[in-house]
Amino acid sequence: MDAFIQNHQYNEIIRQAKHVHNTRHTVNDDKVKKEFSFYCFDKICGLFPARAKEQEDLLAWILSIETEQDLLHYQEKIREAVIPFPQVTDQTAKKLFKKTKKLHFPKTTPETFEQLSYFSWLDTSSGKKFLIAEIDGELKGLVGSFLPYNKKSICHFCHHVADVGLFTIDVKTNTKLQTYKSLGNYICSDSASCNQHLTELDGLQAFYDYAKKTSN
Ligand SMILES: [Zn+2]
Repeated sequence: MDAFIQNHQYNEIIRQAKHVHNTRHTVNDDKVKKEFSFYCFDKICGLFPARAKEQEDLLAWILSIETEQDLLHYQEKIREAVIPFPQVTDQTAKKLFKKTKKLHFPKTTPETFEQLSYFSWLDTSSGKKFLIAEIDGELKGLVGSFLPYNKKSICHFCHHVADVGLFTIDVKTNTKLQTYKSLGNYICSDSASCNQHLTELDGLQAFYDYAKKTSN
């Protein structure tokens, strides 16, 4: 089967699978358990409106989750159908951030890109946070300032309570007048953990849309 699941969809599927597993142990009524697992199955099917029969069959394994072992097995099977994030190199990053003179691209391994919706790193010397995500089938870069916040707060991307910082992008609205517009939101400091919690891409997409809209 070809990979058809994006990272944030994988996170949502596993979240639902954990609900099913929990219900098996916390609810006694078999009818309720069954109904709940179908409810979760419906939810994950909703992520793939144009799904093929074999894709639905794979997702449907959620209905048979009973034990911890079943849950792990399901997780493995779903994992195999996840679309990998592209292996970003220093060269790719340089092309995406042409305006940045000294790009401090971090050390990466193939594992770095295993579970990602976006790849990100913080350049501590400049306080800039760099983001790379696939938008409309193309890798796109986004750079903004990142100001760590000393308290835990809700991340705008993954909606989890975590150590966050204020991520702000400035977009030129008028080249002649040198005017800027900016958009800022709190996002996770730890982008690897953020990527493991992301279940939708609206927050991330909003930044890319903003950058696109105002720079035209
Ligand atoms: Zn987050």
